[in-house]
Amino acid sequence: MTRFLHMVLALCLSGLACTGAMAQGSVQARLVPEDTRLQGTRDGVSLHLALSQPVPYRLRLLPAPPRAVLEFNTLDFRAMDWPEIDALRGLRTGTRGDGWTRLVLDLAYPMLPEQVEQVVDPDTGQAVITLNLRRAELDAFEARTVDEAAFAQSYSDYLLHPDTAPPRTDTGPAPLRVLLDPGHGGVDPGAVRDGVTEAEIVLAFAKVLQEELARRTGFDVYLSREDDSFVSLDGRLRAARAVRADLFLSIHADALPEGLATGAAVYTLSEEASDETAALLAERHDRDDLLAGVDLSRNTDEIASVLMSVAWQDTKLRNAALADALIDGIGAAGLRLHSRPEQSGAFSVLRAPDMPSALLELGFMSSPRDLARLRDPEWRATMAAAVADGLEIWAARDRERRALLDR
Ligand SMILES: [Zn+2]
Repeated sequence: MTRFLHMVLALCLSGLACTGAMAQGSVQARLVPEDTRLQGTRDGVSLHLALSQPVPYRLRLLPAPPRAVLEFNTLDFRAMDWPEIDALRGLRTGTRGDGWTRLVLDLAYPMLPEQVEQVVDPDTGQAVITLNLRRAELDAFEARTVDEAAFAQSYSDYLLHPDTAPPRTDTGPAPLRVLLDPGHGGVDPGAVRDGVTEAEIVLAFAKVLQEELARRTGFDVYLSREDDSFVSLDGRLRAARAVRADLFLSIHADALPEGLATGAAVYTLSEEASDETAALLAERHDRDDLLAGVDLSRNTDEIASVLMSVAWQDTKLRNAALADALIDGIGAAGLRLHSRPEQSGAFSVLRAPDMPSALLELGFMSSPRDLARLRDPEWRATMAAAVADGLEIWAARDRERRALLDR
């Protein structure tokens, strides 16, 4: 092995992505099946992955049973028919859900990488990742493996085990873990009209929605706050992480000074606000945190880096689909929608790069009609059912999309 290869290998196994000379385009790298080879060698495995463009990638070895895990940011594996070879007990590919794609090789015996590198053709811009694995003593193999529990925690445990199967339609998909985030609370009441606070209205609604979703199959529902207590915007995101939420839905019913806004609207994250009211709402929610003594100086930078991340490219599409589905659900129930129901802005609470999230304004407390509806238990139940419908619509569409991507 050349010194260069040693260097690349060391980098790949040290926990860093092997970036090499990356041309980070917006176009996703694809596997080129006709030029891709997986072969058994005399004492190991040789894998040549032909790619439409280079990708950041990394290799990890996991013990008991021995596995080699290649991760790519991001690679589309579709249409590859993998051959069966003696040195492998199995092979699985899948999308981790945060922009990384994973290829897991179940090794028939301990093997160590003899070569792992990515070479880019300067003329075509195409790349080949080569991984050669060779039989090794168990001790030597185990000395190079990473701690599986730590790895699974940092990088999700998706597909790591030989008995892992993709969600099967006959057994039903895994439940969608939903974090409902009733806005405001505690020292931050949100909008206040006629002695009623936005914090209490949205908490009451979130509990109705939680019950509605619990009655349906396919949802595990969590709340970012259960009572009238203050939770920072960061704390709300941490709550979602703590339960490994698949989806984050912040719930509000703000007041707007002009008093003209009425009907439900869904907001997603973007750098530029879709209009002045969206900008005002985003600013106001940040300011509420500020007034409660939370340091927000990182948020603007964080939003900028989220919008540039690779994972965001996928999440952005899923967010747009989420907003569409919620609006479809609310519209189908005949409930009042805002004249521009789909909007966006720099909402700090929506800045998860890898978790679909949206902020739902149920209505605006500044509108007397909306306020009457927001306080009406019957309206709340109808709205909760409509939002649950929207989440079901989104979950079904998202699963279809995932299935296409994983194919
Ligand atoms: Zn609010």
